[in-house]
Amino acid sequence: MADIDAFVQAEADSLVTELSEWCAIPSISSDPEHSADVRRSAEHLAGLLEAAGLDTEVLAVDGGQPAVYAEWLGAGAEAPTVTVYGHHDVQPADPLDQWTTPPFVPTVRDGCLYARGASDDKGQIHFQVSAVRHLLAADGRLPVNLKFFVEGEEESGSPNIDAFLVEHAERLACDLVMVSDTGMVAEHVPSLVTAMRGLIYLQVDLRTAPADLHSGSFGGAVPNAVAELVALLAGLKDAAGRISIPGWYDDVLDLTDEERANFAALPFDPEELKAVTGVGALPGEEGFSPLERMSGRPTADVNGIWGGFTGIGSKTIIPAEAHAKVSFRLVADQDPARLEPLFERWVRDRLPEHVEVSVRSFGGVKPALTPLDHPGNRAAARAVARAFGKEPLFNREGGSGPERALSDALGAACVYLGVMLPEDRIHAPNERLLLANYYRGVRAAAYAFEEFATPEVAAALRTPVR
Ligand SMILES: [Zn+2]
Repeated sequence: MADIDAFVQAEADSLVTELSEWCAIPSISSDPEHSADVRRSAEHLAGLLEAAGLDTEVLAVDGGQPAVYAEWLGAGAEAPTVTVYGHHDVQPADPLDQWTTPPFVPTVRDGCLYARGASDDKGQIHFQVSAVRHLLAADGRLPVNLKFFVEGEEESGSPNIDAFLVEHAERLACDLVMVSDTGMVAEHVPSLVTAMRGLIYLQVDLRTAPADLHSGSFGGAVPNAVAELVALLAGLKDAAGRISIPGWYDDVLDLTDEERANFAALPFDPEELKAVTGVGALPGEEGFSPLERMSGRPTADVNGIWGGFTGIGSKTIIPAEAHAKVSFRLVADQDPARLEPLFERWVRDRLPEHVEVSVRSFGGVKPALTPLDHPGNRAAARAVARAFGKEPLFNREGGSGPERALSDALGAACVYLGVMLPEDRIHAPNERLLLANYYRGVRAAAYAFEEFATPEVAAALRTPVR
């Protein structure tokens, strides 16, 4: 077996140079002015994958930004097939004046590479590519059949991924998806993400009259749309911090004892969270720690509310209409398609008949969960333990992404191998990648391929669970 440690030591500088060249391309997917750069980034990555020894293709995405596909399928039918997922697009870099060195002039200082995309997500794709390049050069083969699917519009919300996955399902099909786009709790606390939350986003529009009414002439006898909306939203959670909508928790899978023990073992200081966010308290669902509530439990939030008179001075009216945007984070096995009608029914049931209401949805994302004892998670944990010299903990990600869509389309569970750190400032000025973690990532990826290929894990992965 190739000596991955020796490779990382010998190539330490050239790997960073190679990554820096890629990070110099401003592949900002949300900005049409950077379309050519996103394409250039895709082509650049395709070149790296090709040089590593994979068959590679830049795939056009209908109405969107190009993705990169690559494969090496020489490990044989007994070996599992793993698809590495990540993205080559990046967030906008502004405010530019807050960067110590320009975002697209990658610069190494204090053991970190500073550049937009260094951590999210080019560095995390690059450590996978580097591991593959070395294994193929040294051994002439990989322990697993490997595919890469690196999309170009994740930072724009992956608007075309569902159609893309349908179109390319056969090509991308695998026994395990290895997501390379998440982080760890702290440099010396290696950890593996096991879940992503889902999301639904809704707007509620209320009307109580054709137009605003004079509060002196009619006040005391007519309904007030803003008051109706506020009363409605005040009932969204009960005194114990639970969402009051009937049936909301029916499909929520309980956190297992092992998960709760993991949450309890993660380094977390409520005072520090209060200091970082500038809030005076951490309210939420009774019976769960703040960490559990931030990633392992459903949430309901009013994102905005408007209506009536909000101008300068006074205007004595009774508002005829009121509006709110409301979002919910979901956990496995909650389904947006089942919950949106529950919300709408709850709204209609609670409002008096004289209030006209409409509820509209801006779309949903399904939650993803790979149980801790899934053979893929256990194997990934062994790989991380070997690379980091320490058993990893498991945690969940509070945000939402396309992982469940990937998992459903490709018929395989997701494992999450990521080395980003909370202080890497992704999406913010001075994004960085801790090079020590990048090198550990190269090793972890190589070990993960090996662990997935052990006969026991391979057999378990190749037996579909759904
Ligand atoms: Zn990312």
